[in-house]
Amino acid sequence: MEIRTIASGSSGNCLLVSAQGAHILIDAGVSCRRITTALAAFGVAPQTLSGVFITHEHSDHIAGLATLTKKFALPVYASPGTARQLCCRIAALEDLVRPVKPGASLDVGPFGVETFPISHDAAEPMGFALTHGGRKAAVVTDLGYVSDPVLSGVRGAHLLVCESNHDVDWLQSGPYPYYLKARILGDKGHLSNEAGAALACCCAEAGAHTILLAHLSAENNTPAQALRVSGDLFRRAGIDPDRDVTLAAAPRSEPSRAYEV
Ligand SMILES: [Zn+2]
Ligand SMILES: [Zn+2]
Repeated sequence: MEIRTIASGSSGNCLLVSAQGAHILIDAGVSCRRITTALAAFGVAPQTLSGVFITHEHSDHIAGLATLTKKFALPVYASPGTARQLCCRIAALEDLVRPVKPGASLDVGPFGVETFPISHDAAEPMGFALTHGGRKAAVVTDLGYVSDPVLSGVRGAHLLVCESNHDVDWLQSGPYPYYLKARILGDKGHLSNEAGAALACCCAEAGAHTILLAHLSAENNTPAQALRVSGDLFRRAGIDPDRDVTLAAAPRSEPSRAYEV
């Protein structure tokens, strides 16, 4: 199984999971054109996608979904609450959407997909873990804190895509209005570098070999800062981030390389 990110951050999120010539997308938060261009570069025809999994209805996760589903009639998997929101926004989506209760598991193509609820200011957000051939990858972004269902969801992952949204000091001293700072820092906001590092480190200690830091803020973070915070915590836990694991930040607006799970 392989994972590539197509975009990551508040201006758009989209990620491709591939195995045995089958593919699924998680989120479609950049334009359909950008998604299909990235897929073409990977040698993937959009018609062959087994489905699109949506974490929640914020525009940085669904911006390209209307055009993508209109053009290619792909099945869309989302929680019942997210599905309702999507159907309000996207015409004729009812025929394509397949609600999945957070906590449920399903098989799509060669993939096992496990879902779990996450805490975020959306209707019914959820995270995903993908399994194939005894390997597991988990995708966890857009959450205010790491709950027990998240810890269970990522357990045993070989690869983790983990939110590392902001540096708390930079956010607090930055120009955002008070309500926005409170939203981002709150239980239904986003994981800070420190909170993301703690989750990443927990997975690395449990055997994850690859950690991709994701959904970095453009205003309140940099890849170097996110990697420094995680790297420092890994070293304190006795894990060498340059040797024992692959630790990288998902690029904001261009596709990543492929990461083997
Ligand atoms: Zn987001
Ligand atoms: Zn969000």
